[in-house]
Amino acid sequence: MTEDSEPGTEERKHWKHLHAEIVATEICCGCSACVVACPHHVIEMENFDPVMQDLTLGPDNCVHGEKSCSLCAMACLRLDPDYDTIESLLFGRRRKHPSEPWGISREMWLAQAAGDGVPGGQDGGVVTALLAWMLEQGEIEGACVSKPRQDKPWLDEPVIATTADELIEAAGSRYTYCSTPLALKQAAERKMKAVAMVGVSCEATAIREMGAQGIKRWSRMVKFNAGLMCNETFQYEPFIFEIVKGRYGIDLDRIKKINVKGDVFVTLDDATDVVIPLDECKPYANAWCHHCPDFAAEHADISFGGLGMSGWTMCVVRSEYGQDLWNRAVSAGVVVTRAAEEEPVALKVLDALAKKQRRRVGPMESHASGRWSSNRVLERVRSEYLASGGDGGGDE
Ligand SMILES: Cc1cc2nc3c(=O)[nH]c(=O)nc-3n(C[C@H](O)[C@H](O)[C@H](O)COP(=O)(O)OP(=O)(O)OC[C@H]3O[C@@H](n4cnc5c(N)ncnc54)[C@H](O)[C@@H]3O)c2cc1C
Ligand code: SF4
Ligand code: SF4
Ligand code: SF4
Repeated sequence: MTEDSEPGTEERKHWKHLHAEIVATEICCGCSACVVACPHHVIEMENFDPVMQDLTLGPDNCVHGEKSCSLCAMACLRLDPDYDTIESLLFGRRRKHPSEPWGISREMWLAQAAGDGVPGGQDGGVVTALLAWMLEQGEIEGACVSKPRQDKPWLDEPVIATTADELIEAAGSRYTYCSTPLALKQAAERKMKAVAMVGVSCEATAIREMGAQGIKRWSRMVKFNAGLMCNETFQYEPFIFEIVKGRYGIDLDRIKKINVKGDVFVTLDDATDVVIPLDECKPYANAWCHHCPDFAAEHADISFGGLGMSGWTMCVVRSEYGQDLWNRAVSAGVVVTRAAEEEPVALKVLDALAKKQRRRVGPMESHASGRWSSNRVLERVRSEYLASGGDGGGDE
């Protein structure tokens, strides 16, 4: 809403506004929700940006948007997202400040996949184990995951996995971005009605923003929203080729795992680690991550993170469905668990990273409501900010 406009007379936003406010400003995180939601299929993801394919009105406008369509703008978690509705629908309330720094949770557990574990699992292999069990139970028909591409090492593509083997191929973390929600389109082509979606924090929220905006065709399909805690992702070419391969001389074919635990640990096929200081990689973080308030995937059903541990996944059970799923999976022996409090250092890392990440967003950014705990608080912070001439970023 502009300063002069009356409530209820806001301009209807569409591609023109999404492009100007989010894509051209590099606030866009490449989540692909706008592309998934576009009913006329006129935008496509190219190098993590949505790009207009119908150039009738040029790359920054849309013929359908000029008539009546708004779906891309509504779907975007960076363009005026409705956190009040998202959290009310999911939890019945907004998160409290300052007592819930990593969002609303019901329970927290350390877990590991049971039995022989998950080959290639990043931490405890919990995400893959849960999804495989859900497939086996018929609770989901497929899972939207991020799978290593054949042609580009350590870059992923979105796929819908329908077997345990396909899930295992996708296990582990790649610290380059993947527009995983695009796999929802593959699921729709295969006429699936119930899928899981695995994504980093921004992708977990993207699915909820679609639900909050009534774009139910896609949000309803996602039965289980599995969120991965995320501090940043790196640009592919500089991270993998200039640093890992170029500066450190690592043969990409020999890498078994890359893990960020304070520094970047590159594990080779002989089980040795090459440690790359995180500060060397930071300059190549994706620009959009500097606008991201959410480390802990606060809108997932369950969030998962390694938090500097080895072989265990921290699982933050958030929604009612997440709790039910978790209880059933634990009873079925899918995972083994320990109390989260047994790893106090990991809990401190979670607390510190969640608080730090929130401060990335300034009050005048269009998705600032992700940082403040309600629109009422945000409005107060905004007026104080404007009155101070733009100094200071608020109280969280
Ligand atoms: C880009 C990225 C950054 C992360 N940053 C942190 C962090 O700072 N701190 C922290 O504690 N945890 C972080 N995590 C989460 C952590 O790395 C593990 O994913 C999590 O602990 C689950 O481990 P697991 O062994 O249970 O999962 P697994 O069983 O190994 O399953 C991992 C799942 O992640 C999916 N995946 C892999 N790469 C991507 C990607 N780029 N985008 C979307 N999905 C992907 C795979 O498809 C797979 O389904 C990050 C994950 C990613 C992908
Ligand atoms: S305005 Fe409608 S048709 Fe145009 S890009 Fe957005 S969603 Fe697609
Ligand atoms: S929906 Fe996602 S990909 Fe589309 S503009 Fe918004 S942040 Fe970017
Ligand atoms: S830091 Fe935020 S914006 Fe960047 S990839 Fe992770 S969740 Fe997405």
